Amino acid sequence: MLYIGCDVGGTNIRSAVVDEQGRILGDARLRALMEKGADFVLGQIADSFREALSRARAKRDDIKAVGIAMAGQHDSKAGVCIFSPNFDWENVPVISTLQKEFPLPMFLGNDVNLATLGEWKFGAGREYKWVVMITLGTGIGGGAVLDGKLMLGATEMFAEVGHMTILPDGPRCGCGNHGCWEALAARDAIVRRAVRKLQEGRKSTLSEVVNYNWRELTPEIIAKEANKGDEVARETIEETGYWVGIGVANLINIFNPEVFIIGGRIALAGELLLGAIERTVKARGLSASWQPCKIVPAALGDDAGVLGAVAFAMERLGE
Ligand SMILES: [Zn+2]
Repeated sequence: MLYIGCDVGGTNIRSAVVDEQGRILGDARLRALMEKGADFVLGQIADSFREALSRARAKRDDIKAVGIAMAGQHDSKAGVCIFSPNFDWENVPVISTLQKEFPLPMFLGNDVNLATLGEWKFGAGREYKWVVMITLGTGIGGGAVLDGKLMLGATEMFAEVGHMTILPDGPRCGCGNHGCWEALAARDAIVRRAVRKLQEGRKSTLSEVVNYNWRELTPEIIAKEANKGDEVARETIEETGYWVGIGVANLINIFNPEVFIIGGRIALAGELLLGAIERTVKARGLSASWQPCKIVPAALGDDAGVLGAVAFAMERLGE
């Protein structure tokens, strides 16, 4: 039997027809166009199912279940998106709407939680029972599979690690608090850190890459230049690794995982970032907790959303 996994992002919707081993047989990518409202976006999701089925040369009857991964808080039993800041959605009945056209078992869950489950089933967390994952992006998301079970939390808010206070008087976070982890270690903080160095007059290839429009810098560009040896970019990634590492040390102390997975595009900075994270974890964490724990980059890349959604559908069906 086959599954459909759907990754609903702020910009794009991607659906894929996937087999039980996590192989993608065909996929479709459509613009989300969230500004057109929930009904329109749900229509795009349905279109992406149809297109993925046709690309995979599969029929609706071949599909055992559908999983949908989306940022926000959901009631996965009711199939309702309670709140999604990316989409400005409140109480949208995602599953019942889609089931009118696709009467299949269908499951909705938080994107980072599902990505964690996907890495556990098909990626960097295979063969482990205690897995913690974070995604470094515009924010920092968290998820965990503990003793082989995906954690959702009492109100499916597991685990908003990006908003743990790391520096009480630190920079203001989008949530209103000061010194949240993501205000120190996510996208904007990384770019701000590099720009500050450039404003001090430091020479760097970063300036040339964006033609001195420093606002166009991204963590991906900084990571790339760092790996080419640019000093300002290297310092930025290392300082980022320090702040990321403080939170990772906390989470390893709390959850005692066998493997700690780091996802998101900035993780592509590779050894430079991971090394800085590891040094901080070793300096600050409990050795009995960090010694048995491997810190590794995510393995599924852009497929984490669709494969995580499929893993969620399989898990909900008891497979
Ligand atoms: Zn916050």
